[in-house]
Parts: sequence; structure tokens; C-alpha cells
Amino acid sequence: MGIATINPATGETIKTFEPLSKESIESKLAVAQQVFESYRQTPMTQRAEWLNAAAEILERDKVRFGKIMTTEMGKPIKSAIAEANKCAWVCRYYAEHAAEFLADVPAATDASKSFVRYQPLGIILAVMPWNFPFWQVFRFAAPALMAGNVGILKHASNVPQCALVIEDIIREAGFPAGVFQTFLVGADQVKDIVIDPRVKAATLTGSEPAGASLAAIAGQEIKKTVLELGGSDPYIVLESADLEAAVSTAVTARMLNNGQSCIAAKRFIVVDAVADEFERRLVEKFQALKIGDPMEETTDLGPLATPSILKDLDQLVQVCIEKGSKVIMGGKALSDRSGNFYPPTILSDFPPGTPADNEEFFGPVALLFRVPDIDAAIARANAIPFGLGASAWTTDEAQAERLIDELEAGAVFINGLVKSDPRLPFGGIKRSGFGRELGIQGIQEFVNIKTVWVK
Ligand code: NAP
Repeated sequence: MGIATINPATGETIKTFEPLSKESIESKLAVAQQVFESYRQTPMTQRAEWLNAAAEILERDKVRFGKIMTTEMGKPIKSAIAEANKCAWVCRYYAEHAAEFLADVPAATDASKSFVRYQPLGIILAVMPWNFPFWQVFRFAAPALMAGNVGILKHASNVPQCALVIEDIIREAGFPAGVFQTFLVGADQVKDIVIDPRVKAATLTGSEPAGASLAAIAGQEIKKTVLELGGSDPYIVLESADLEAAVSTAVTARMLNNGQSCIAAKRFIVVDAVADEFERRLVEKFQALKIGDPMEETTDLGPLATPSILKDLDQLVQVCIEKGSKVIMGGKALSDRSGNFYPPTILSDFPPGTPADNEEFFGPVALLFRVPDIDAAIARANAIPFGLGASAWTTDEAQAERLIDELEAGAVFINGLVKSDPRLPFGGIKRSGFGRELGIQGIQEFVNIKTVWVK
């Protein structure tokens, strides 16, 4: 495909970019390594000042940044602008809390003084996806830079302008040149960067194959990785749930970002007692969504980011249908318009052996499972190779406690939408990855946790 801005709403190629040459990569790595030696000595207060300045820029120019996101990957403009604001939040959060999160931690031992000190590692590589093209990068960059590391970004090939403007924001905020650099490179150039001895660790958000490939290379080189991969999050609705709230939130949970979110609710697991009513109201709300130009404020559902995402999604849907699953609504790509549009779709009654059992549906497709009770709901929720987030709806405290305890996921939200929040760790188990971003845990991933013992 190459590195290019291609408008997903029209299919128009707006701008193409040449990938960096070997020589350019070498000189950028040299700059990163050199700046690390001085940057690691900068006081936390100075780093915080720069990060707060980045937050101001993000808020000041949120509309401009929003338009770049929407042009490149098709999310509705109102969520793109909200994404720029959320990035400002994570910058301010780490600017305020990093010093406390990375302060020396005393420990009582046989020493006269012993403690833990957190120190930066050096150059950290971030391989990032297009679906939250600003947020994914800032939630890596804010803690990494506060910890004294320097960052290099290999962004998804369809969001090069987002990648470049993020580097501009960090430079304009006052960070020394080279503390954060965008590398316009293809996936095939990642290996050489990972194995470079100056690169100390890597984080990847994206698909399983990409994560497995990066982690295998990093493993050979004995370098730490954090992987934030896919999910097929359950959304459980029990009999005691506030049904109206559960259905309204279900729409956002499935449709946010045109259905392309790792923590989108993908499998709706509803007990028989309320399933018919849940289905009826969900259909009604899906039908009311406005599909169209993502640049328009009133659009709810824009195009999928690329033609291949559309093709992959449709293929999963067609296999479900061929094997005998029921189509409640949608189920067929929209052929009456250009761009990568897919209609809101609900499938149910899956026979064994469909992709609903183990695949991630990355788009506006809800999979509806009917179950007799909470035991079956938990069993169904856990019967998947992923374990990212889970949302469950009940007003019964004992049931909520069971769900919190028994759901196999990196996060459980009771009576709410699974969402990322700078104050809470974010990450998965099983094939959804390992390691955590955000919260205190996120800033402690890429540091040397140094034990100090003084007699
Ligand atoms: P993807 O193809 O894996 O792309 C993600 C990034 O990895 C891109 O920068 C891509 O570069 C790069 N990449 C791809 N193959 C690679 C390889 N073999 N070695 C090194 N880098 C490689 O992912 P996607 O399909 O676009 O993104 C959607 C996936 O991301 C979904 O599964 C979603 O659930 C997941 N996701 C997870 C989270 C989370 O926090 N857990 C958040 C958002 C998305 P190119 O663009 O150049 O190929």
C-alpha cells in the first residue's frame, strides 16, 4: 500500500510519502541517542512544563488536528476533536503525577539504607495503529518522556500526516529536538530498528500477527516489549440490568470510531429473560444512526479506515451467514457509495464453528448471543482467545462481584462503557497482549527498577 493519506470516505489519494532510507534512519537514531544523554538529566519539573505546553497546543489546535485524523482514517470529526482533548488530558496527568510515580521507594532491609530508584532506559520504539491516531501515540509518549526516555514512532502507514504533526506538537511544546521523532517507515523496516543496540525496548498496539512478529524479534535481542493487541470484548446484560441504559451504552460501545476500537463491545451476551427486548431496542437505535461524511458534525458512522478492513470484516460476516447464522440487520457492504462504508449489522444464532467463536470483528457488527443465566454468560464471555475488556450490566451486587472475579479480561466495567482513562491501567491478558499503559503501571513499564542497598 505504501505510506499515504487516502481519504476513506472517497477513496481519493491525497498525498504519498517516501519511506525513510537506511541512512536517514541511522542519522535519526544517532540524534535520539545523543539527546537521551542530556535529556535524561533534565529535571522532572522542566519535562512537566513542556508536556503541559503540549497539552495547550493540543487544545488550541484541536479542530485542525481533528480534521487531519478524519481525513486520514475516517472517524467522525466530533470524536476526532474529542481525541485531541483527551491527549491534552494524558499530558497534564503525567506532567502532574510522574514525579510521585517515579519517586524513590524506601524498603526496610538489613541495609542502613535501601530503596528502589526508577531510571529511564533510553530510546523506546512505539509501533502504533491508525484507529486512535493521536491518542495511542500520546498515551505512550506522555509517560515515556516524563520518565526521561526518548521516543521514536513508527505509525501506521495510512496516517503519516498525524504522525508528522505529533512530532511537530512535541517540538513546539519545547522538548529538545530528537526527544520524540517520527520515522516514516513500513512494517518491513521495523526489524532493523528493533535490533539496533541503541533501541532499548518497544511497545506495539495493533494486530496479533504484528505483535507476535515484533515480540519475537525483541525476544531474540532480550528487549522488553509491551503489546496491546486485539479483543472481542463481551458485553453482558443480566435480568436485573437497567435495560435502557444498557442498550444506549451498547450503541456507543459497538459503534465508537466506526466500530474500530480494540475495546469496542463486540459480543453482546444477553440472558433470555431480556434478550428479545434488548434486541428490539438495539435494532431501533442502530437504525437511527446517521451514516455519512465523517467531516459532518452530525455523522454518527463514517467509513472504515481502509478497503482491506472493509473486505476482512465483510468476509467474517459472510462466513457466519453461510454457516447458518441469522442476520437481524445489515450484513452486506454498501455498494451505492464510494468509500469504505459498512452498515450497522447485527448477527445472532451462531452454529458452532463460525468466526463469532474466536475472531475480532473490527467494524460496526454486533454479535448477539442469548444465554440462560449468569453461569452461561460468564462461560460464553471467557470462551475466546482474547482478554482485553468486559462490560457487564446488573444491579445485583453479588452478581457484579462474580463478574468482576470471574471474567478473563484486563478490565471489567460494571454498568458502564469500557474506556481508557489516564488514571487507570490499560491492557489485556491472553492473546490481547501483555504489559500495561496508563496509570502508575504505564509509566513504570519502560524504566530500570533499580535496587539500591547501602551498608
Ligand atoms: P496492524 O496491521 O497490526 O498495524 C498496527 C501497526 O503495526 C502499524 O503501525 C503497522 O504498520 C505495524 N505492523 C504491521 N505488521 C507489522 C509487523 N509484522 N512488524 C512490525 N510492525 C507491523 O493493526 P491494524 O489491523 O491496522 O489495527 C487494528 C488492530 O489493533 C486491531 O486488532 C485492534 O484491536 C488493535 N488495537 C489494539 C489496541 C489496544 O490497546 N489493545 C488499541 C487499538 C487497536 P503498517 O501500517 O505499515 O502496516
